[in-house]
Amino acid sequence: MPREMTYRCYTCGTYEPHRQPRDDRERNVIRKLAKKRKGNAFVDDYWICVSRDRDCRNIRYAYDDNPFDPPVKMPEPE
Ligand SMILES: [Zn+2]
Repeated sequence: MPREMTYRCYTCGTYEPHRQPRDDRERNVIRKLAKKRKGNAFVDDYWICVSRDRDCRNIRYAYDDNPFDPPVKMPEPE
């Protein structure tokens, strides 16, 4: 069961609820992104913004609100 945590979202600019990746598709998206960042390949350390106010889906690292340049959104399922 994925947990929910409140983290600052770089894109929203505010503290928002975030969830962990919920399925293999999302885990694979994050795994590819994480591989580009040395030493930060733990998929479960990445969180997705689930702001109630907007469809954000910005991906952050647990210890860095802006790990990717530019920021990356979790893509919608095809
Ligand atoms: Zn956000």
